[in-house]
Formats: sequence, structure tokens, C-alpha cells
Amino acid sequence: MSETPKQTRVLIIGGGPAGSLLALLLHQREVESVILELRTREHVLERVRAGVIEHGSAEVLRAAGVAGRMDSEGFVHEGVQVAHGEEMIRIDFEGLTGKHVTIYGQTELQRDLYGALDSAGIQLLDEAEGVRVEGIEGDSPMVTFERDGATEQIRCDFVAGCDGAHGVSNGFIPPSLQRTFERTYPFCWVGLLSETPPISDELIYARHERGFALCSMRSESRSRYYVQGSADTTLAEWPDDRFWSELAARLPKTSVASLVTGPSIEKIVTPLRSWVSEPLRHGRLLLAGDTAHVVPPTGAKGLNLAISDVVYLSDALAWFYRAGSTTGLEGYSDRALARVWKAVRFSWWMTNMLHLFPGMSDDFERRLQTTELDYLFGSDNAQRAMAENYVGLPL
Ligand SMILES: Cc1cc2nc3c(=O)[nH]c(=O)nc-3n(C[C@H](O)[C@H](O)[C@H](O)COP(=O)(O)OP(=O)(O)OC[C@H]3O[C@@H](n4cnc5c(N)ncnc54)[C@H](O)[C@@H]3O)c2cc1C
Repeated sequence: MSETPKQTRVLIIGGGPAGSLLALLLHQREVESVILELRTREHVLERVRAGVIEHGSAEVLRAAGVAGRMDSEGFVHEGVQVAHGEEMIRIDFEGLTGKHVTIYGQTELQRDLYGALDSAGIQLLDEAEGVRVEGIEGDSPMVTFERDGATEQIRCDFVAGCDGAHGVSNGFIPPSLQRTFERTYPFCWVGLLSETPPISDELIYARHERGFALCSMRSESRSRYYVQGSADTTLAEWPDDRFWSELAARLPKTSVASLVTGPSIEKIVTPLRSWVSEPLRHGRLLLAGDTAHVVPPTGAKGLNLAISDVVYLSDALAWFYRAGSTTGLEGYSDRALARVWKAVRFSWWMTNMLHLFPGMSDDFERRLQTTELDYLFGSDNAQRAMAENYVGLPL
């Protein structure tokens, strides 16, 4: 285990995408930081999660010097398919916005980020447990944690909470100063990863009378599929055979002809929720990524929001160290939340348009849902609005 420093400028809690990228962006601006990560490196590198990188996020990763493999091994997607029953249209990102997304697994991105941290000599202290913080209302907070059986302490100028949806940082803001907003969706996604070629060159989002389905991919030989399940479903209810037949039943027949099935190499059940906790700053504590906001995966925004948050946060911290100005830090929460809420809105819109809600019969809601799809299928302007949000609003 590497030796614990006594002091740093920015102490980052969490070594996921938000924390790792923040450390790199700060390093580029000569701001020193140390990362504390609860898990082992191996554990972090094994987590299979996001895969859609927005146009602007890819540019950030290029500027940070971690896009080499993404640019050579990732897939540029210039559009997505949206299916409704047997009908299917293509949302032409490149034609409608001049931009595209890149399909590149978060697992691979995390590997690139850790490689870059090591090359830059940035310290990531893994297996750091029981992190707690004192003095965030003053000028030099103290962070205490246990590592390798010993209690350690690091003094810093700022604490960046990047420890994800199950982290502790968000809890360091007094509850009386926080406001949270939440929507829990009454269903979940069952996801399957298989060593099979993808059904299509582009993602397929499908709305069907049996429920939502998504066809995604990680590489030319590895596919990721999801189907909507009930809120209380368990993996035991989804043997591979049931998953594949349910997926096939929800896709247009023309697509099913290209579906290659095979044994699952990973299966998950993911609940869907939107959750935002405001503000993102209290004194010398600044939050970024999933610790402050979670979106349902429908719009593929979670990882991208973690990236935009740390871009804004690194700007604010660099400004402070360059010019002694606290203006960027004071505006950070509002600046980041303005973009977060637009992604919350887009993810909510996609989720509402494409999923079957329990109790939805042939009523007002259902007619609105099918009308929304009808409008999207028939209007260039509606398709442009979807494309603009999917490729990512400007940072
Ligand atoms: C199954 C799944 C599929 C997803 N699909 C997509 C997608 O398609 N597109 C998309 O954009 N997003 C997707 N997401 C969301 C995306 O993965 C997250 O938004 C992204 O990982 C957020 O990055 P983060 O760094 O904020 O948090 P995390 O990736 O959660 O990283 C936080 C880190 O902090 C560490 N940590 C936690 N607690 C502590 C502690 N107390 N002390 C120290 N360290 C701690 C954790 O071990 C972790 O390494 C998906 C998420 C899941 C779970």
C-alpha cells in the first residue's frame, strides 16, 4: 500500500469516473489532489455500467489525454433506432445536429483513467474505509479514514465528494440545508450481457405493448440487452431463455431476424429513479456525479453528468488557485445543476415515452404516450430535439 500524505489541496472521496477525471483535470492545471477509494482497484475496474459517451464528453476526455483507446476501439454512432411495435425510425444525430455519440464501456474508460492517474503520479489510496470529514465550514478541512488497520488523516483545502449514489459525502451537508427531489419509477430493467454480435449497428430503443426493450452493445462480439420488468422482479425469474424470448417479443420482426442469442455472462436488475440533492456545495465541500444526482439509464446520462460536473468543478478550483477568486466556487452548484436538470428532464421524457406503467389501460396517459411517439416518428423538429439532448447539450 502506498504511503498516506499528510496534506493536499483537494481531497477527492471516490475513485470512480467523477473522482478520477477530476484529479486528472486538476493535475493539468497544476492543482494537487489525492483520491480515497473505498474498494480495491480490481473491484472498481470490474463494474459493468454505462456505455454511451456524449459528443462533448468525448471532447473532454480527449483534452484530458485519456481518449486514445476510446477513439480507436469505441464505436461512433451517428444515430439510434426507435421502435414502436413493428414500426421503426432512425434518429439521425449527425444529420440533425452534426454530432454523434461514442459507444465505449465505462469499464474501459475507468481502466484508461487509472492508467492516466498512475502516469501522472496522482495518488489513489484504495481500500480507504470509514471516511469522515471535519471543518468543511472553515479553511482547512481534515479527512479521517481507516486503511490497512490504521487510522489516517489528511488535511486539505477542499473536499470533493465523488463517491457515487451509495457514498457518504452527500451526508456531510447538514440536512436542514439540503433539498432532495425524487421520482421512483414503478418498474426496473433486467439487463443481460452476452458474448454475441450485436443485433444492429446502432442502439434500438423499443416501446411495445409487453414493455420497454433496449438493444445495446459493448464491442463487435459483446452485446448488452435490457427488458423492462416489474418493480419487484428478481434475477431468479429471468433465466436466459425467458429473457431472450421476451426481448424478441418486444422488437420489430425485421430486427429479430438478426438477433443472435447465447449464454449470459452477466445479468442484473436495475431499479429506475430520478433523484437530485441540492446544493452541490457547502463550505469547502463540493459534490459531483452520482453522489448528488441519479437519473434512470434510459437517456444514458449518468456518466455524462459526472463528466460535466467535474469539468465545471475543475474550472472553479483552478480559478481559485490561479487568481484567488471564489466566484467560480460560489457559482459551481447553480452552474452544474442547470445542466443536471436538463438531463433529468430528458431521461424522464424518454422513460415516460417508452415504458408501460402499471395500471395504464387505454386511458388518457396511454393515448398521450402513443401520440408522443407518433409525433416523434412524424416530425423532424421532434427528432432534432431528441437528437440534441441525446448527443449532449453544450457544456
Ligand atoms: C447498471 C448500470 C448501468 C448504467 N448505464 C449507464 C449508461 O448507459 N449511461 C450513463 O451515462 N450512465 C449509466 N449508468 C450510470 C453511471 O454508471 C454513473 O452515473 C457513473 O458511474 C457515475 O460516476 P461517479 O464517479 O459519480 O460514481 P461511481 O461510478 O459510483 O463512483 C463512485 C466511487 O466512489 C466509491 N465510494 C463509494 N463510497 C465511498 C466511500 N465512503 N469512501 C470512498 N469511496 C467511496 C465507489 O466504490 C466508487 O468507486 C449506469 C449505472 C448502472 C449501475
